[in-house]
Amino acid sequence: MSDVRIDDLPVRDELRGTSPYGAPQLDVPVRLNTNENPYPLPEPLVERIAERVREAARGLNRYPDRDAVELRTALAAYLTRTGGHEVGLRNVWAANGSNEVIQQLLQAFGGPGRTAMGFEPSYSMHALIARGTGTGWISGPRDEDFAIDLAAAEKAIAEHCPDVVFITTPNNPTGNAVPRETVAALYEAAQAAKPSMVIVDEAYVEFSHGSSLLPLLQDRPHLVISRTMSKAFGAAGLRLGYLAAHPAVVDAVQLVRLPYHLSAITQVTALAALEHTDTLLGYVAQLKQERDRLADELRAMGYEVTASDANFVQFGRFADAHEAWRKILDRGVLVRDNGVPGRLRVTAGTPAENDAFLDAVRELKNEVE
Ligand code: PMP
Repeated sequence: MSDVRIDDLPVRDELRGTSPYGAPQLDVPVRLNTNENPYPLPEPLVERIAERVREAARGLNRYPDRDAVELRTALAAYLTRTGGHEVGLRNVWAANGSNEVIQQLLQAFGGPGRTAMGFEPSYSMHALIARGTGTGWISGPRDEDFAIDLAAAEKAIAEHCPDVVFITTPNNPTGNAVPRETVAALYEAAQAAKPSMVIVDEAYVEFSHGSSLLPLLQDRPHLVISRTMSKAFGAAGLRLGYLAAHPAVVDAVQLVRLPYHLSAITQVTALAALEHTDTLLGYVAQLKQERDRLADELRAMGYEVTASDANFVQFGRFADAHEAWRKILDRGVLVRDNGVPGRLRVTAGTPAENDAFLDAVRELKNEVE
């Protein structure tokens, strides 16, 4: 192969010199860097998946259900049961991970000549998906404690009039939740400014002290709640994300989704996982406890910890966060350097993994002192 690089290709101008999403996938003993659930799926569920996949395999000569009706109905039932608000098939849409849900939303509501705003630091893929869909990105403010300062956020929305506003709650990588009243007020601000679509990314909501913002969907047709089976359901490898919104929003994403985007295998696997919802969510309580233990022990060691409603904890401060990340890695524990100055993020793992992490940071602390 001759030495051809990206920039030698007629690639879109806005992609030149940029980097792909790249959480390191390193083979180390303790991996606490991508907010996965550390527990493998329980054996009865593995059996059920195998059974349903075997059945589906017989029909793989045909395209899958393009509208994923059975799956969306099951997701709607899960949301209605746990979210404090009734939603049905027509309110729910599903795709390959919530990343794809967000991409479809930006294809429908963003795009060239339009802008999206997020309050940073937040989930980096929002900005990357904006870039990939030709949507301009506006970085909105957070205060020193990583909370959204309502007045500052309202001002930013009024000034920039974005077409799409992202609110991630609980936020990644910081872990803190956004109060319901703040989300409601930001929705109003976004409607006054444009009106725009407001996407509430609730990827981690099952780990929260509070409840889902699903009830806010009532009378707010420009609001979208995005969810995933990658975290609380412990099924990151499945790639299944979904949204709840007004049926018109579901109609809009259907204008841009690829036909048959959700494979028959994905659909039946997700359905099997949903049959085992209670078992899977049983790990959530344990992970919340471990999250709180991580936060308490880090604080006891003298680290600064951001209050977390998610399955991870942001901690610091480090004079050089990347150097600290490397030293923790040298001790066999992979955490995440999200580029937030002076901070790192650790995902709650099994008790043994968390112990290994705590030992590593304790050593680090002793080394510095
Ligand atoms: N939203 C947030 C806030 C996330 O942290 C993540 C995953 N890290 C996602 C969405 C995407 O998850 P998935 O595509 O696996 O559903």
